[in-house]
Amino acid sequence: MIADIRFDEKGLVPAIVQDAQSKEVLMLAYMNKESLEKTLETGETWFYSRSRQELWHKGATSGNVQRVVDIRYDCDADTLLVLVEPAGPACHTGSYSCFSRSLNGEARTPTADRFAILNELEQIIAQRDAERPEGAYTTYLFEKGVDKILKKVGEEAAEVIIAAKNRSHDELKWEAADLLYHLLVLLREQKLPLDAVLATLVERHAQKTGAVENK
Ligand code: AMP
Ligand code: ZN
Ligand code: ZN
Ligand code: ZN
Repeated sequence: MIADIRFDEKGLVPAIVQDAQSKEVLMLAYMNKESLEKTLETGETWFYSRSRQELWHKGATSGNVQRVVDIRYDCDADTLLVLVEPAGPACHTGSYSCFSRSLNGEARTPTADRFAILNELEQIIAQRDAERPEGAYTTYLFEKGVDKILKKVGEEAAEVIIAAKNRSHDELKWEAADLLYHLLVLLREQKLPLDAVLATLVERHAQKTGAVENK
């Protein structure tokens, strides 16, 4: 609740911006009540620029807007944590995160989640399913139904096998991508989120490492 937030004597509250997917911290900026309201209204981040003393829509000039996934606040309500899906680099220097320098001298360059494309694909496939735009291959698959999708998964799996037998990276890359895409279409048809699959992997992994530690 916005009424709970404790703005400081200047009417500002620090907002930590975090990538909702990769969990990397992207930047820190300040919000006043108005920018927080704008953020809630538009679903994109708005801050208050202390140097320019004005509201600032992140990405207004660069195009690198941040779509808000969630806004949390801390125990004493004096700091915000804004979870976003960034359209591009958060930093005005062009780097993905503002926190790319380290006092111990080691270069640490946070990068976007390299699996973000799976997330994006899952969303696009869900959108195609809901909207069924004409001419889209994904629409064609959903219209044909589950048997067609199952057949494609089988075909692509067979093509992966052939590519691997051929020891061809070019072929294998292509066919593995085909398989992943059709698998995502199948998961959508079955209404099983990719997250459930990933959680199963995490669980199995935890069981294994747990077993080792318990010895
Ligand atoms: P943008 O909001 O990305 O269109 O950038 C507009 C201006 O906002 C830039 O020229 C910078 O002055 C400032 N700016 C953008 N991103 C940051 C940031 N992460 N931290 C501080 N200032 C920023
Ligand atoms: Zn606090
Ligand atoms: Zn920066
Ligand atoms: Zn294929």
